[in-house]
Amino acid sequence: MTFSEPSAVPNLGETTPLVPPIAPAREVEVDGHPGPGLGHRTLTEPYLRIENVHKIFGSFVALKDIYLNVYPGEFVCLLGPSGCGKTTLLRIISGLEQQTQGRVIQGGKDVSKLPPSMRDFGIVFQSYALFPNLTATQNIAYGLENQKLPKGQIATRVKELLDLVGLEGMGHKYPSQLSGGQQQRVALARALALSPGLLLLDEPLSALDAQVRVRLRAEIAELQRRLGITTVMVTHDQAEALAMADRIVVMDKGYIAQVGTPSSIYQHPSSPFVANFIGVMNFLDGVVEAADTVRCGNILLHAPSNEVPVGQAVSIAIRPEDMRVADIATDAPNRVEADVVSREFLGAGYRLDLTLSGNARQPITLEISANRARNLNVEALEALSIQLPPEMIRVFPKE
Ligand code: ATP
Repeated sequence: MTFSEPSAVPNLGETTPLVPPIAPAREVEVDGHPGPGLGHRTLTEPYLRIENVHKIFGSFVALKDIYLNVYPGEFVCLLGPSGCGKTTLLRIISGLEQQTQGRVIQGGKDVSKLPPSMRDFGIVFQSYALFPNLTATQNIAYGLENQKLPKGQIATRVKELLDLVGLEGMGHKYPSQLSGGQQQRVALARALALSPGLLLLDEPLSALDAQVRVRLRAEIAELQRRLGITTVMVTHDQAEALAMADRIVVMDKGYIAQVGTPSSIYQHPSSPFVANFIGVMNFLDGVVEAADTVRCGNILLHAPSNEVPVGQAVSIAIRPEDMRVADIATDAPNRVEADVVSREFLGAGYRLDLTLSGNARQPITLEISANRARNLNVEALEALSIQLPPEMIRVFPKE
């Protein structure tokens, strides 16, 4: 279904109340799903299952081995760099694109071969895709009118939807008389009009300016939770995904790199790609010296080297905010000296670019709060002791 193809609005039968009294139960913790047999230990059946989906354009493999379960009421973000295949996956879920291989199962029904008009979803695109010659009310009512619902019922539903997206009293306006954020609210109301089982959001915020974006993302997330509607959103903005999603699917070059809750992905990235894509990460070059010991030039660091064999070249990863700069005992593990190369005032804190002492002189970036910076007299600081807490370090073998 696209809104430039208005006749393709799915047939959903009778309308249902928009706001259920209680949103469906959520899972407490769900992790990634690399393939069949490794599913979630959960009592809830997935609402949407993507099974072994591949997509090939000519000779180009856009998606490979995609397995994903989305649970009822869940908000899942497909996140990744440009060209990683996230929009293609969303289009396959909607039926706008046909997968080369694999199945899409929604609400227990195999919809793999169904056209968009036969599927149960509402969609919001990056470009608001409103009918310019229709008012907000008429845009929202479009799908309801296609259902031939009684006029009174349509009017009630449209008012309810306008209120829901914070556009009370603005139904008479045309898209050209609305701001970008307001147009996107209309698009959202239109996508929700038929109470679809699934809400698909394709970069819905990326055309908006920064402030509107932040406000609307909070509102959409709140609305999604209130409605309890299963939602899949495409974004390339990691802050957006971290703020909005129950789970994030990080994609790279057509495959799923990692699936997990925002905090688990941030704290336990499974690869340097994920570590670098979500948040900021320092990578130091090193070699595994012994179990849980890595060498970085002539500095020995305690770090969870896991199963990485001795002698293996590794990247030693630590986030800028995870290093300690004060109250470090002289015999604390991983206490190292560093020279300050440059500093940047960030408002709420400082970023310091450092080089580690020792013969490796590797660069490392540190972030500290404004409070901490004041105590350190950071503007005059030329060198300092830092600690790389072992539990905050990740060790990735180099390829
Ligand atoms: P972006 O954030 O830039 O939109 P994306 O992750 O959404 O990126 P897709 O639009 O899914 O990426 O595209 C994935 C890859 O598939 C890209 O390399 C793209 O060029 C290619 N691709 C997408 N649609 C087609 C098509 N119809 N024909 C050929 N190649 C395509």
